[in-house]
Amino acid sequence: MAKRIPLLFAVLFLFLLQPVEAFPSSALDITVKPSKIGQGELGLLSIQKTGGAKRKVIWMGKKITLLYDKKNEVLAGFIGADLTTRPGRYKLQISLKNDLHSIIISVLSRDHGIRRLTLPKEMVELDPPTLKRVLEESRRMKELFISSAEYLFWKGSWIRPVPGTVISPFGCRCIINGMERSPHSGVDLKASQGTPVKATNSGIVVLVADHFFSGLSVVIDHGGGIQSMYFHLSQVLVRVGELLEKGTIIGLSGSSGRVTGPHLHFGIRLNGGRVDPLKLIEISRRLER
Ligand SMILES: [Zn+2]
Repeated sequence: MAKRIPLLFAVLFLFLLQPVEAFPSSALDITVKPSKIGQGELGLLSIQKTGGAKRKVIWMGKKITLLYDKKNEVLAGFIGADLTTRPGRYKLQISLKNDLHSIIISVLSRDHGIRRLTLPKEMVELDPPTLKRVLEESRRMKELFISSAEYLFWKGSWIRPVPGTVISPFGCRCIINGMERSPHSGVDLKASQGTPVKATNSGIVVLVADHFFSGLSVVIDHGGGIQSMYFHLSQVLVRVGELLEKGTIIGLSGSSGRVTGPHLHFGIRLNGGRVDPLKLIEISRRLER
């Protein structure tokens, strides 16, 4: 028994030496950049294309749809972690024919900061009919996030809907009139009243509505579990069911809904998870345009 212990330690030591983000994987060339994902962030997954064999990628129990990227000659897709995903090590599973490859990806804790807002009482303390309306609008949005098209409408890199700078970052904890509310699920970009708002990528319009909190809103489904959101518009120029090319002007910015001034709230959902839209734009620059 005593002789076995050093061997056990040696094995354990070798195991600990293995990098957490063990890639490239043996037979398949698989990379995830960045190799560690913060809460509310995402990584670009690239798999070397080897013939026409089907690959199935599963991340946090959900399927990741891949797209062929001509520029890098790889199959590419995004994996993300919701704002509230528990930090830890998660398995990314890739099956190719009968082979199952898995990579461990770390999700790291992120502090996205705090924002404090003071709003009129009637915008915070909702009367029963308003509360009913808000719950119904929230239910409708949640349904959209779980019903993305299988077909990928998005192509290559993602673009900024308006050129303006960040006025309120993604993910910050929200303290309204001294009470903690849901964290900021998107990024607020500077946009004066009437600024043209572009579709961040190609997709199909799945919602045009006037909601209590988000005001005049547009949601685009890009397929494969990715949706983009544009809130507080002053005018909408697209219709539900319309297929849009990346860069199409979907409306004009404004200050509708619960806001303190005109800006564009821009959000991205990836398989239902709230991820930083600007990170998506940043990491997608590696893809063809
Ligand atoms: Zn916002």
